[in-house]
Amino acid sequence: MSQFKKILVANRSEIAIRIFRACTELGIQTVAIYSEEDRLSLHRYKADEAYLIGKGLSPVGAYLDIPGIVALAKEKGVDAIHPGYGFLSENADMARACAEAGITFIGPPPEVLDALGDKVSARAIAERAKVPVIPGTKKAVKNDQDALLFAKKHGFPLIIKAAHGGGGRGMTIVHNREQLLDAVARSRSEAQKAFGSPKVFIEKYLERPKHIEIQVIADRYGNMVHLFERDCSIQRRHQKVIEIAPSRSIKPGVKDKLYRDALSICAEVNYVNAGTVEFLVDQDGNHYFIEVNPRVQVEHTITEIITGRDIVQTQIRIAEGYPLEHDTIRIPSQSKVKKSGYAIQLRITSEDPANQFAPDTGKLTAFRAGEGFGIRLDSGNGFEGAVITPHYDSLLTKLCTWSLDYDLAVTKALRAIREFRIRGVKTNLPFLENMVDHERFRKGDLDTGFIDDHPELMQ
Ligand code: ADP
Repeated sequence: MSQFKKILVANRSEIAIRIFRACTELGIQTVAIYSEEDRLSLHRYKADEAYLIGKGLSPVGAYLDIPGIVALAKEKGVDAIHPGYGFLSENADMARACAEAGITFIGPPPEVLDALGDKVSARAIAERAKVPVIPGTKKAVKNDQDALLFAKKHGFPLIIKAAHGGGGRGMTIVHNREQLLDAVARSRSEAQKAFGSPKVFIEKYLERPKHIEIQVIADRYGNMVHLFERDCSIQRRHQKVIEIAPSRSIKPGVKDKLYRDALSICAEVNYVNAGTVEFLVDQDGNHYFIEVNPRVQVEHTITEIITGRDIVQTQIRIAEGYPLEHDTIRIPSQSKVKKSGYAIQLRITSEDPANQFAPDTGKLTAFRAGEGFGIRLDSGNGFEGAVITPHYDSLLTKLCTWSLDYDLAVTKALRAIREFRIRGVKTNLPFLENMVDHERFRKGDLDTGFIDDHPELMQ
Protein backbone atom coordinates (compact mmCIF):
# COMPACT_ATOMS: atom_id res chain seq x y z
CA MET A 1 0.00 0.00 0.00
CA SER A 2 1.41 3.36 -0.99
CA GLN A 3 1.71 6.25 1.42
CA PHE A 4 1.83 8.61 -1.54
CA LYS A 5 -1.36 9.10 -3.52
CA LYS A 6 -0.07 11.59 -6.06
CA ILE A 7 3.39 12.36 -7.41
CA LEU A 8 4.41 15.29 -9.62
CA VAL A 9 7.40 14.75 -11.87
CA ALA A 10 9.40 17.97 -12.21
CA ASN A 11 10.96 16.89 -15.48
CA ARG A 12 10.20 16.08 -19.10
CA SER A 13 10.62 13.54 -21.84
CA GLU A 14 11.86 9.97 -21.30
CA ILE A 15 12.69 10.23 -17.59
CA ALA A 16 9.30 11.77 -16.79
CA ILE A 17 7.57 8.93 -18.63
CA ARG A 18 9.77 6.33 -16.93
CA ILE A 19 8.78 7.73 -13.51
CA PHE A 20 5.06 7.88 -14.41
CA ARG A 21 5.24 4.20 -15.29
CA ALA A 22 6.80 3.36 -11.94
CA CYS A 23 4.08 5.34 -10.13
CA THR A 24 1.23 3.80 -12.10
CA GLU A 25 2.46 0.31 -11.21
CA LEU A 26 2.41 1.33 -7.55
CA GLY A 27 -1.15 2.70 -7.83
CA ILE A 28 0.02 6.31 -7.46
CA GLN A 29 -1.60 9.13 -9.48
CA THR A 30 0.76 11.12 -11.70
CA VAL A 31 1.08 14.81 -12.54
CA ALA A 32 3.09 16.10 -15.51
CA ILE A 33 4.33 19.62 -16.07
CA TYR A 34 5.20 20.96 -19.51
CA SER A 35 6.55 24.16 -20.95
CA GLU A 36 4.97 25.98 -23.87
CA GLU A 37 7.69 24.49 -26.14
CA ASP A 38 6.77 21.00 -24.88
CA ARG A 39 3.07 21.28 -25.59
CA LEU A 40 3.36 18.53 -28.20
CA SER A 41 5.72 16.34 -26.16
CA LEU A 42 4.69 12.85 -25.25
CA HIS A 43 5.36 13.05 -21.51
CA ARG A 44 2.45 15.44 -21.21
CA TYR A 45 0.03 12.76 -22.35
CA LYS A 46 1.51 9.95 -20.25
CA ALA A 47 0.40 11.32 -16.87
CA ASP A 48 -3.03 11.36 -15.23
CA GLU A 49 -2.93 15.16 -15.10
CA ALA A 50 -0.76 17.68 -16.95
CA TYR A 51 -0.25 21.40 -16.46
CA LEU A 52 1.41 24.13 -18.48
CA ILE A 53 4.12 25.87 -16.48
CA GLY A 54 6.64 28.67 -16.86
CA LYS A 55 4.61 31.32 -18.67
CA GLY A 56 7.05 34.06 -19.66
CA LEU A 57 10.09 31.93 -18.81
CA SER A 58 12.62 30.37 -21.14
CA PRO A 59 12.12 26.74 -22.28
CA VAL A 60 14.64 25.48 -19.72
CA GLY A 61 13.71 28.11 -17.13
CA ALA A 62 10.18 26.71 -17.01
CA TYR A 63 11.51 23.46 -15.51
CA LEU A 64 13.72 25.38 -13.06
CA ASP A 65 10.96 27.53 -11.58
CA ILE A 66 10.99 26.33 -7.98
CA PRO A 67 8.20 28.57 -6.59
CA GLY A 68 5.96 27.94 -9.60
CA ILE A 69 6.37 24.16 -9.55
CA VAL A 70 5.99 23.83 -5.77
CA ALA A 71 2.90 26.10 -5.74
CA LEU A 72 1.33 24.01 -8.50
CA ALA A 73 2.07 20.80 -6.60
CA LYS A 74 0.45 22.22 -3.49
CA GLU A 75 -2.61 23.39 -5.37
CA LYS A 76 -3.08 19.97 -6.97
CA GLY A 77 -2.77 18.01 -3.72
CA VAL A 78 0.55 16.34 -4.59
CA ASP A 79 2.29 14.28 -1.84
CA ALA A 80 5.74 14.10 -3.40
CA ILE A 81 7.84 15.50 -6.24
CA HIS A 82 10.26 13.36 -8.22
CA PRO A 83 12.88 15.57 -9.90
CA GLY A 84 14.32 12.98 -12.35
CA TYR A 85 17.83 13.91 -13.53
CA GLY A 86 19.16 17.33 -14.59
CA PHE A 87 16.98 20.41 -13.96
CA LEU A 88 16.21 20.63 -10.19
CA SER A 89 17.33 17.12 -9.25
CA GLU A 90 20.44 18.21 -7.32
CA ASN A 91 19.10 21.53 -6.13
CA ALA A 92 19.08 21.85 -2.34
CA ASP A 93 16.79 24.91 -2.52
CA MET A 94 14.23 22.79 -4.32
CA ALA A 95 14.43 20.13 -1.60
CA ARG A 96 13.98 22.86 1.04
CA ALA A 97 11.08 24.50 -0.79
CA CYS A 98 9.32 21.12 -0.96
CA ALA A 99 9.84 20.53 2.76
CA GLU A 100 8.43 23.99 3.58
CA ALA A 101 5.36 23.24 1.48
CA GLY A 102 4.85 19.89 3.25
CA ILE A 103 5.72 17.93 0.09
CA THR A 104 8.27 15.11 0.04
CA PHE A 105 11.25 15.61 -2.28
CA ILE A 106 12.19 12.20 -3.68
CA GLY A 107 15.94 12.38 -3.16
CA PRO A 108 18.49 13.00 -0.44
CA PRO A 109 18.02 15.69 2.24
CA PRO A 110 19.10 19.27 1.35
CA GLU A 111 22.24 19.12 3.53
CA VAL A 112 23.45 16.10 1.57
CA LEU A 113 22.76 17.86 -1.74
CA ASP A 114 24.68 20.90 -0.48
CA ALA A 115 27.67 18.82 0.59
CA LEU A 116 27.87 16.80 -2.63
CA GLY A 117 26.88 19.54 -5.09
CA ASP A 118 30.30 21.13 -4.76
CA LYS A 119 33.04 18.85 -6.13
CA VAL A 120 35.66 20.37 -3.84
CA SER A 121 33.59 19.58 -0.77
CA ALA A 122 32.75 16.11 -2.16
CA ARG A 123 36.50 15.40 -2.50
CA ALA A 124 36.98 16.40 1.14
CA ILE A 125 34.21 14.01 2.16
CA ALA A 126 35.89 11.19 0.24
CA GLU A 127 39.18 11.92 1.96
CA ARG A 128 37.47 11.85 5.35
CA ALA A 129 36.04 8.44 4.40
CA LYS A 130 39.61 7.32 3.52
CA VAL A 131 38.78 6.90 -0.14
CA PRO A 132 41.49 7.78 -2.69
CA VAL A 133 40.95 10.94 -4.74
CA ILE A 134 42.94 12.10 -7.78
CA PRO A 135 45.76 14.39 -6.68
CA GLY A 136 44.16 17.83 -6.77
CA THR A 137 43.96 21.22 -5.09
CA LYS A 138 42.35 20.92 -1.66
CA LYS A 139 40.55 24.21 -2.13
CA ALA A 140 39.27 26.33 -4.97
CA VAL A 141 42.02 27.93 -7.07
CA LYS A 142 41.89 31.63 -6.25
CA ASN A 143 45.02 33.03 -7.88
CA ASP A 144 47.87 32.28 -10.25
CA GLN A 145 50.10 31.26 -7.38
CA ASP A 146 47.77 28.37 -6.38
CA ALA A 147 47.74 27.06 -9.95
CA LEU A 148 51.49 27.39 -10.50
CA LEU A 149 52.32 25.68 -7.24
CA PHE A 150 50.10 22.73 -8.05
CA ALA A 151 51.57 22.40 -11.55
CA LYS A 152 55.09 22.52 -10.18
CA LYS A 153 54.37 19.71 -7.78
CA HIS A 154 52.34 17.44 -10.07
CA GLY A 155 53.40 18.29 -13.62
CA PHE A 156 51.19 18.12 -16.73
CA PRO A 157 48.64 17.30 -18.09
CA LEU A 158 46.16 18.81 -15.64
CA ILE A 159 42.42 19.28 -15.72
CA ILE A 160 40.68 22.42 -14.46
CA LYS A 161 37.17 21.68 -13.26
CA ALA A 162 34.25 23.83 -12.22
CA ALA A 163 33.27 22.91 -8.64
CA HIS A 164 29.61 23.11 -9.61
CA GLY A 165 30.04 21.70 -13.13
CA GLY A 166 28.06 18.80 -14.54
CA GLY A 167 27.08 16.99 -17.70
CA GLY A 168 30.67 16.88 -18.92
CA ARG A 169 30.83 20.68 -19.12
CA GLY A 170 33.16 23.01 -17.25
CA MET A 171 36.37 21.01 -17.73
CA THR A 172 39.57 22.15 -19.45
CA ILE A 173 42.63 20.00 -20.04
CA VAL A 174 45.94 21.84 -19.86
CA HIS A 175 49.13 20.42 -21.35
CA ASN A 176 51.79 22.96 -20.46
CA ARG A 177 52.72 25.88 -18.27
CA GLU A 178 52.12 28.43 -21.02
CA GLN A 179 48.44 27.53 -21.25
CA LEU A 180 47.83 27.28 -17.53
CA LEU A 181 47.09 30.78 -16.27
CA ASP A 182 44.94 31.75 -19.23
CA ALA A 183 43.01 28.52 -18.85
CA VAL A 184 42.36 29.13 -15.14
CA ALA A 185 41.08 32.65 -15.82
CA ARG A 186 38.89 31.43 -18.67
CA SER A 187 37.54 28.50 -16.65
CA ARG A 188 36.62 30.78 -13.77
CA SER A 189 34.64 33.15 -15.95
CA GLU A 190 33.00 30.30 -17.87
CA ALA A 191 32.06 28.57 -14.62
CA GLN A 192 30.47 31.78 -13.38
CA LYS A 193 28.40 32.04 -16.56
CA ALA A 194 27.38 28.38 -16.81
CA PHE A 195 27.00 27.35 -13.16
CA GLY A 196 26.59 30.63 -11.26
CA SER A 197 29.88 30.24 -9.36
CA PRO A 198 33.46 30.96 -10.44
CA LYS A 199 34.80 28.21 -8.18
CA VAL A 200 37.28 25.95 -10.01
CA PHE A 201 39.87 23.42 -8.82
CA ILE A 202 42.68 21.49 -10.48
CA GLU A 203 43.26 17.76 -10.70
CA LYS A 204 45.92 15.69 -12.34
CA TYR A 205 44.62 14.51 -15.71
CA LEU A 206 44.61 10.71 -15.99
CA GLU A 207 45.36 9.26 -19.43
CA ARG A 208 42.71 6.88 -20.72
CA PRO A 209 41.09 5.88 -17.43
CA LYS A 210 37.93 3.82 -17.14
CA HIS A 211 34.84 5.49 -15.71
CA ILE A 212 33.24 3.04 -13.29
CA GLU A 213 30.31 4.02 -11.11
CA ILE A 214 28.57 2.27 -8.25
CA GLN A 215 24.80 2.40 -7.72
CA VAL A 216 23.96 2.84 -4.05
CA ILE A 217 20.59 2.57 -2.33
CA ALA A 218 20.16 3.88 1.22
CA ASP A 219 17.11 4.10 3.46
CA ARG A 220 16.44 6.70 6.16
CA TYR A 221 17.67 4.40 8.92
CA GLY A 222 21.30 4.02 7.92
CA ASN A 223 20.87 0.78 5.93
CA MET A 224 22.76 0.79 2.66
CA VAL A 225 23.52 -1.55 -0.21
CA HIS A 226 25.13 -1.27 -3.62
CA LEU A 227 23.66 -2.62 -6.84
CA PHE A 228 27.04 -3.32 -8.46
CA GLU A 229 28.78 -1.19 -11.06
CA ARG A 230 28.31 0.37 -14.49
CA ASP A 231 31.13 0.93 -16.94
CA CYS A 232 30.53 4.33 -18.56
CA SER A 233 33.91 4.69 -20.25
CA ILE A 234 32.49 5.19 -23.73
CA GLN A 235 32.25 8.96 -23.71
CA ARG A 236 32.35 11.80 -26.19
CA ARG A 237 33.53 15.12 -24.79
CA HIS A 238 33.25 13.71 -21.26
CA GLN A 239 29.63 12.73 -21.84
CA LYS A 240 28.46 9.15 -21.72
CA VAL A 241 27.31 7.51 -24.94
CA ILE A 242 27.18 3.79 -24.13
CA GLU A 243 27.06 2.15 -20.69
CA ILE A 244 27.58 -1.47 -19.69
CA ALA A 245 26.71 -3.37 -16.52
CA PRO A 246 28.59 -5.09 -15.05
CA SER A 247 32.06 -3.94 -16.14
CA ARG A 248 34.10 -6.38 -18.23
CA SER A 249 37.41 -4.64 -17.94
CA ILE A 250 38.31 -4.40 -14.27
CA LYS A 251 39.31 -7.19 -11.93
CA PRO A 252 37.00 -8.55 -9.21
CA GLY A 253 39.42 -7.29 -6.54
CA VAL A 254 39.12 -3.73 -7.87
CA LYS A 255 35.33 -4.02 -7.97
CA ASP A 256 35.24 -5.02 -4.31
CA LYS A 257 37.25 -1.93 -3.38
CA LEU A 258 34.88 0.29 -5.37
CA TYR A 259 31.80 -1.18 -3.64
CA ARG A 260 33.40 -0.71 -0.22
CA ASP A 261 34.53 2.85 -0.93
CA ALA A 262 31.21 3.91 -2.48
CA LEU A 263 29.39 2.77 0.65
CA SER A 264 31.96 4.49 2.93
CA ILE A 265 31.41 7.82 1.20
CA CYS A 266 27.64 7.49 1.42
CA ALA A 267 27.88 6.54 5.10
CA GLU A 268 30.13 9.56 5.73
CA VAL A 269 27.37 11.98 4.56
CA ASN A 270 24.42 9.97 5.92
CA TYR A 271 23.21 9.47 2.38
CA VAL A 272 19.51 8.70 1.82
CA ASN A 273 17.78 7.41 -1.34
CA ALA A 274 19.39 6.28 -4.62
CA GLY A 275 22.77 7.73 -5.58
CA THR A 276 25.76 6.98 -7.74
CA VAL A 277 29.38 7.20 -6.70
CA GLU A 278 31.68 7.77 -9.67
CA PHE A 279 35.30 6.65 -9.90
CA LEU A 280 38.06 6.70 -12.46
CA VAL A 281 40.21 3.58 -12.64
CA ASP A 282 43.67 3.90 -14.22
CA GLN A 283 45.48 1.38 -16.42
CA ASP A 284 47.10 -0.21 -13.33
CA GLY A 285 43.79 -0.76 -11.59
CA ASN A 286 44.16 2.12 -9.11
CA HIS A 287 40.84 3.77 -8.42
CA TYR A 288 40.01 7.38 -7.57
CA PHE A 289 36.76 8.99 -6.47
CA ILE A 290 35.47 11.78 -8.75
CA GLU A 291 31.95 12.66 -7.63
CA VAL A 292 28.58 11.55 -6.28
CA ASN A 293 25.45 12.04 -8.35
CA PRO A 294 22.66 12.33 -5.78
CA ARG A 295 19.78 11.37 -8.08
CA VAL A 296 18.61 8.79 -10.55
CA GLN A 297 21.04 8.51 -13.50
CA VAL A 298 20.20 8.28 -17.19
CA GLU A 299 21.84 4.84 -17.19
CA HIS A 300 20.04 3.42 -14.12
CA THR A 301 18.20 1.17 -16.58
CA ILE A 302 21.06 -1.29 -17.07
CA THR A 303 21.42 -1.81 -13.33
CA GLU A 304 17.69 -2.53 -13.15
CA ILE A 305 18.06 -5.08 -15.91
CA ILE A 306 20.90 -7.07 -14.34
CA THR A 307 19.54 -6.91 -10.77
CA GLY A 308 15.78 -7.05 -11.43
CA ARG A 309 15.36 -4.12 -9.01
CA ASP A 310 13.22 -1.13 -10.00
CA ILE A 311 15.35 1.81 -8.87
CA VAL A 312 12.63 4.45 -9.31
CA GLN A 313 10.09 2.44 -7.31
CA THR A 314 12.75 1.89 -4.65
CA GLN A 315 13.35 5.65 -4.54
CA ILE A 316 9.63 6.19 -3.97
CA ARG A 317 9.44 3.54 -1.22
CA ILE A 318 12.45 5.03 0.57
CA ALA A 319 10.90 8.50 0.35
CA GLU A 320 7.70 7.05 1.81
CA GLY A 321 9.79 6.03 4.81
CA TYR A 322 10.12 2.29 4.30
CA PRO A 323 13.33 0.54 5.38
CA LEU A 324 15.22 -1.57 2.83
CA GLU A 325 14.09 -4.80 4.50
CA HIS A 326 10.39 -3.92 4.12
CA ASP A 327 8.23 -6.09 1.85
CA THR A 328 7.91 -3.23 -0.63
CA ILE A 329 11.69 -3.11 -1.21
CA ARG A 330 12.92 -6.55 -0.13
CA ILE A 331 16.62 -5.89 0.39
CA PRO A 332 17.23 -7.10 3.96
CA SER A 333 20.95 -7.46 3.28
CA GLN A 334 23.61 -7.02 0.60
CA SER A 335 23.64 -10.75 -0.12
CA LYS A 336 20.04 -10.53 -1.36
CA VAL A 337 21.10 -8.33 -4.29
CA LYS A 338 21.89 -10.67 -7.16
CA LYS A 339 22.93 -9.99 -10.70
CA SER A 340 22.47 -11.88 -13.89
CA GLY A 341 24.03 -11.43 -17.33
CA TYR A 342 25.06 -8.24 -19.11
CA ALA A 343 23.13 -5.12 -20.05
CA ILE A 344 24.20 -2.43 -22.50
CA GLN A 345 22.59 0.99 -22.93
CA LEU A 346 22.96 3.05 -26.09
CA ARG A 347 21.85 6.66 -26.14
CA ILE A 348 20.14 7.28 -29.47
CA THR A 349 20.19 11.01 -30.14
CA SER A 350 19.08 13.39 -32.90
CA GLU A 351 22.67 14.35 -33.68
CA ASP A 352 24.53 14.10 -36.94
CA PRO A 353 27.80 12.16 -36.54
CA ALA A 354 28.91 13.24 -40.02
CA ASN A 355 28.62 16.90 -39.01
CA GLN A 356 30.39 17.01 -35.64
CA PHE A 357 27.29 15.78 -33.87
CA ALA A 358 25.30 18.93 -34.58
CA PRO A 359 21.82 18.50 -33.03
CA ASP A 360 19.10 18.10 -35.63
CA THR A 361 15.46 19.13 -35.28
CA GLY A 362 12.24 18.49 -37.14
CA LYS A 363 9.30 16.13 -37.38
CA LEU A 364 9.86 12.37 -37.26
CA THR A 365 8.36 10.94 -40.44
CA ALA A 366 9.15 7.38 -39.38
CA PHE A 367 10.05 5.79 -36.08
CA ARG A 368 10.37 2.04 -35.90
CA ALA A 369 12.36 0.55 -33.06
CA GLY A 370 14.37 -2.63 -32.72
CA GLU A 371 12.36 -5.04 -30.61
CA GLY A 372 12.32 -8.56 -29.25
CA PHE A 373 13.68 -10.59 -26.36
CA GLY A 374 16.26 -8.80 -24.27
CA ILE A 375 15.45 -5.30 -25.50
CA ARG A 376 14.28 -2.40 -23.33
CA LEU A 377 13.32 0.99 -24.74
CA ASP A 378 12.82 4.22 -22.83
CA SER A 379 11.74 6.90 -25.27
CA GLY A 380 10.90 10.56 -24.91
CA ASN A 381 9.54 11.58 -28.26
CA GLY A 382 10.08 8.33 -30.09
CA PHE A 383 7.05 8.10 -32.35
CA GLU A 384 6.06 9.00 -35.89
CA GLY A 385 4.94 12.63 -35.98
CA ALA A 386 6.96 13.64 -32.90
CA VAL A 387 8.43 17.12 -33.16
CA ILE A 388 12.04 17.46 -32.03
CA THR A 389 12.71 21.05 -30.98
CA PRO A 390 16.07 22.76 -30.43
CA HIS A 391 15.19 23.73 -26.85
CA TYR A 392 16.27 20.63 -24.94
CA ASP A 393 18.84 17.83 -25.05
CA SER A 394 18.93 15.61 -28.10
CA LEU A 395 18.20 12.24 -26.46
CA LEU A 396 15.51 10.43 -28.47
CA THR A 397 15.54 6.94 -27.03
CA LYS A 398 17.56 4.78 -24.69
CA LEU A 399 18.05 1.36 -26.18
CA CYS A 400 19.08 -1.33 -23.70
CA THR A 401 19.90 -4.91 -24.48
CA TRP A 402 20.38 -7.83 -22.13
CA SER A 403 21.77 -11.30 -22.42
CA LEU A 404 23.35 -13.85 -20.08
CA ASP A 405 26.41 -13.60 -22.28
CA TYR A 406 28.26 -10.32 -23.01
CA ASP A 407 28.96 -11.21 -26.62
CA LEU A 408 25.29 -11.93 -27.21
CA ALA A 409 24.24 -8.67 -25.57
CA VAL A 410 26.55 -6.91 -28.05
CA THR A 411 25.16 -8.88 -30.99
CA LYS A 412 21.65 -8.04 -29.87
CA ALA A 413 22.56 -4.34 -29.68
CA LEU A 414 23.89 -4.47 -33.22
CA ARG A 415 20.82 -6.30 -34.45
CA ALA A 416 18.48 -3.81 -32.73
CA ILE A 417 20.37 -0.78 -34.08
CA ARG A 418 20.08 -2.18 -37.59
CA GLU A 419 16.35 -2.74 -37.10
CA PHE A 420 15.76 0.89 -36.15
CA ARG A 421 14.30 3.26 -38.74
CA ILE A 422 14.19 6.90 -37.74
CA ARG A 423 13.42 9.39 -40.51
CA GLY A 424 12.91 13.13 -40.47
CA VAL A 425 15.96 13.93 -38.34
CA LYS A 426 19.56 12.81 -38.49
CA THR A 427 20.54 10.43 -35.70
CA ASN A 428 23.72 8.97 -34.22
CA LEU A 429 22.63 5.41 -35.14
CA PRO A 430 25.44 4.91 -37.73
CA PHE A 431 28.00 5.98 -35.12
CA LEU A 432 26.55 3.62 -32.49
CA GLU A 433 26.58 0.81 -35.04
CA ASN A 434 30.27 1.39 -35.80
CA MET A 435 31.14 1.41 -32.13
CA VAL A 436 29.23 -1.69 -31.14
CA ASP A 437 30.66 -3.53 -34.14
CA HIS A 438 34.23 -2.64 -33.15
CA GLU A 439 36.54 -5.42 -32.04
CA ARG A 440 37.58 -3.52 -28.88
CA PHE A 441 33.94 -3.07 -27.88
CA ARG A 442 33.30 -6.77 -28.47
CA LYS A 443 36.07 -7.55 -26.03
CA GLY A 444 34.68 -5.10 -23.49
CA ASP A 445 38.11 -3.47 -23.50
CA LEU A 446 36.97 0.10 -22.85
CA ASP A 447 38.47 3.34 -21.65
CA THR A 448 37.58 7.01 -22.01
CA GLY A 449 39.98 7.38 -24.97
CA PHE A 450 38.06 4.89 -27.14
CA ILE A 451 36.16 7.40 -29.32
CA ASP A 452 39.13 9.75 -29.76
CA ASP A 453 41.36 6.78 -30.64
CA HIS A 454 39.01 5.79 -33.46
CA PRO A 455 37.96 8.78 -35.59
CA GLU A 456 36.75 6.33 -38.25
CA LEU A 457 33.74 5.62 -36.02
CA MET A 458 32.25 8.92 -37.12
CA GLN A 459 31.97 7.83 -40.75
P1 ADP B 1 30.54 15.83 -14.77
O1 ADP B 1 30.03 16.17 -13.42
O2 ADP B 1 30.50 16.98 -15.71
O3 ADP B 1 29.94 14.59 -15.33
P2 ADP B 1 32.90 14.35 -13.87
O4 ADP B 1 33.78 14.88 -12.81
O5 ADP B 1 31.92 13.29 -13.48
O6 ADP B 1 32.10 15.57 -14.58
O7 ADP B 1 33.80 13.81 -15.08
C1 ADP B 1 33.23 13.41 -16.32
C2 ADP B 1 34.29 12.72 -17.15
O8 ADP B 1 35.40 13.59 -17.38
C3 ADP B 1 34.91 11.49 -16.51
O9 ADP B 1 34.13 10.34 -16.69
C4 ADP B 1 36.24 11.39 -17.26
O10 ADP B 1 36.08 10.85 -18.54
C5 ADP B 1 36.62 12.85 -17.40
N1 ADP B 1 37.47 13.26 -16.26
C6 ADP B 1 37.10 13.92 -15.15
N2 ADP B 1 38.16 14.12 -14.33
C7 ADP B 1 39.24 13.57 -14.94
C8 ADP B 1 40.63 13.45 -14.62
N3 ADP B 1 41.13 13.96 -13.49
N4 ADP B 1 41.43 12.79 -15.49
C9 ADP B 1 40.94 12.28 -16.64
N5 ADP B 1 39.66 12.37 -17.01
C10 ADP B 1 38.81 13.01 -16.18
